[in-house]
Amino acid sequence: MPTDPLPILELTFEGLAAELKRRYGRGAYHAAAIMSAVYRQGLEPLQTPEVQASPRLAEALARDLVLDPGTVVEDKRSAGVVKFLTRLGDGETIESVVLPMATHLTVCVSTQVGCRMGCRFCETARMGWRRNLRVEEIVGQVLAARRRFGDGVRNVVFMGMGEPLDNFDNVVQAVRVITDQRGLDVVMRRVTISTCGLEEGIRRLAALNWPHLKLAVSLNAPNDPLRDELMPVNRKVPLARLMDALGAFPLAKDAALMMAYVLVPGVNDRPEHARQVGALLAPLKARINLIGFNPLSGDGGYRAPEEAEVEAFAQQLAEAGVFVCRRRTKGQDLAAACGQLRSQGNKTQEE
Ligand code: SF4
Repeated sequence: MPTDPLPILELTFEGLAAELKRRYGRGAYHAAAIMSAVYRQGLEPLQTPEVQASPRLAEALARDLVLDPGTVVEDKRSAGVVKFLTRLGDGETIESVVLPMATHLTVCVSTQVGCRMGCRFCETARMGWRRNLRVEEIVGQVLAARRRFGDGVRNVVFMGMGEPLDNFDNVVQAVRVITDQRGLDVVMRRVTISTCGLEEGIRRLAALNWPHLKLAVSLNAPNDPLRDELMPVNRKVPLARLMDALGAFPLAKDAALMMAYVLVPGVNDRPEHARQVGALLAPLKARINLIGFNPLSGDGGYRAPEEAEVEAFAQQLAEAGVFVCRRRTKGQDLAAACGQLRSQGNKTQEE
């Protein structure tokens, strides 16, 4: 490991130019060339002609560069959904999924190895928390998807393994890097961060004042007792505090918060639940993504709803004044709620 490592996938163009200046007396010219080579031409930084033309810079970069986003070791396709497994430098593995949408591809990325939030319906929760992903391990998932599927990969959702706001600094820096126009150039309004409801993280994200960033929240329950049971985070951040934090989140004029509600028959699908959700969301600019529960392997306690049950609850929500979004394709369901990715991703593997 170099004494002063330069983790290239962790830096925006400005950050890289500043580092090249500070370390080697180079700057924007070489930074732009390296960004273009790595993110657009699929080259390694040292293969960049502008770097090769400067043997002293090439030698210094060969010594200092750190490029360790992990290696894609498995790539499975099913019904248009591609799941890829990345082995990280320390041997841990993470999942990312590329999902076909109507006009583009969405990549769903992981932010932690495992998760400590313990949501009841989530397979990642069963792993426990192993560690946070480094910035380059997050950016590397988007880069890997772009290298495989090209510029059609235009949306990035942070809904894979882990709670993004529990790895706040690295996730925020990863967003800066992937939206950098000199690099992957993903537009901010095509980036969604999903959270189970970490109040402090939501408030810190709000303070960044990125109104085009989309925020998705896994709601899943209409009242505190039920949410306490399904999502342990609710015991620390009850609904009133969560709604208060969400009310302060900056939104672009035509944007809304996306609240995911995974419908579990006999658990959170009563008519009074729909009315409670309506009352909860009334003060917010929010819409509900209603998703049928997808049973986890070995989780015998709950079943998937019938289409008619989902439709009936959607109707009750609408009557309670909630704007409901019903997603229809498997890919869109996968990209709608944290915790659905891993469960359905595993199912995809088994098919
Ligand atoms: S649903 Fe999301 S936040 Fe909850 S345990 Fe699973 S990965 Fe973590």
